[in-house]
Amino acid sequence: QAQRKGTGAVVAFEPGMLQQFARTRDLRRRLARTPDADRWTVLYQPVIDLTSGAATGVEALLRWTDPEGDFFGIEEVIRLAEEFGSILAIGSWVMDQAVAQAAAWLEEGLPLSVAVNVSVRQLTAPDFADTVERVLADHALPAEYLVIEITETVVLEQTEQTISTLKALRSLGVRVAIDDFGTGYSGLANLRSLPLDILKIDRSFIQGLGESGGDEAVVAAVTRLGRELGLTITAEGIETRDQERRARALGITAAQGYLFARPIPAAEVTELIKARGEISSVRH
Ligand code: C2E
Ligand code: MG
Ligand code: MG
Ligand code: MG
Repeated sequence: QAQRKGTGAVVAFEPGMLQQFARTRDLRRRLARTPDADRWTVLYQPVIDLTSGAATGVEALLRWTDPEGDFFGIEEVIRLAEEFGSILAIGSWVMDQAVAQAAAWLEEGLPLSVAVNVSVRQLTAPDFADTVERVLADHALPAEYLVIEITETVVLEQTEQTISTLKALRSLGVRVAIDDFGTGYSGLANLRSLPLDILKIDRSFIQGLGESGGDEAVVAAVTRLGRELGLTITAEGIETRDQERRARALGITAAQGYLFARPIPAAEVTELIKARGEISSVRH
C-alpha cells in the first residue's frame, strides 16, 4: 500500500486516500510517544470458571481514544504499532498497568489472575522474559497471577528463541495461553512442541455452538485433544446460555464472553465481584 511507504511513494491517488494517509502519519507520530493515561486505557474482561461460576481472572484489553473520533479500531492501532515499531513501548505499558492492577486486587483480597496479550514483536525481543520478571518484582505480584497470551503466528513461526522465552516465562511460574485458536493455520500437532498451559478457542467456533454441527465438532475435537495435551481450555465469546451449556457439556472449564461480562474498567470489575461475591451465571 503506497500510502504507508512515506510521502514519496504515493503514486496512485484514490478518493479518501490522502485523508487516510494524513491520519496514518499522524497516528504514527502519536504512537511513537510514551503511552499516556489520557489516550490509552486498559479494560478488563472477567474470565469465568465454568465449574464454579466464579471469576478467576481477567484479560487485559487495550483501548485507545482517538480525539478525532474512532477512526482506528484497537486491532488496527496494534497492527500499525507493530509496523511502526512502537508496539514494544505500548506492550510494556500494558504489561505494567495489568500487573500493577492484579497486585492491587491481590492486596484487596481479590486473587484474580490477569492475562496480557503480547505481540510477536514483544515475544521475540531477546529480553522479554527478563522484562516480565522485573515487572512482576516491581509490583510484588507472584508469577502465578500472570498469563501471557500469544497468537497462532508464534506457533507457526516457532523458533528456538521463542520456545526458550516461553520456557523461561513458565519457569518463573507465568502461564502461557494460545489465543484465538482455530482461526489460523496451525493445528493441534503444532502445539505439541510448545510450552503452553491454556488454549483459548476462538469465538467464531463458540458462536456456532448449537447452530452449526461443524463448529460443534471442531470445538469437541479441539477440547478433547487440548485436554490430552494437558491444557486448560477456555471458550472465547460466549454470548448465550445455550453456548455456555454446550461448552460445559463438552468439558470446557473456563469462559469469557458478553454473557458474563464485557471488557470494563478495573473499578467495575472490583464492584461486580464484591457485589456478587463472585461473578456467576444464573444456574439452570
Ligand atoms: P483477543 O485477545 O482475542 O480478545 C478478545 C476480543 O473479543 C476482545 O476484543 C473482546 O472485547 C472481544 N469479546 C469478548 N467477549 C466477546 C463476546 O461475547 N462477543 C464478541 N463479539 N466479542 C467478544 P477487543 O478488545 O476489541 O480486542 C481485539 C484484539 O486486539 C484482541 O483479541 C487482541 O488480539 C488485540 N489486543 C487487545 N489488547 C491488546 C494488547 O494490549 N496487546 C496486543 N498485542 N494485542 C491486544
Ligand atoms: Mg487475547
Ligand atoms: Mg482471543
Ligand atoms: Mg482476537
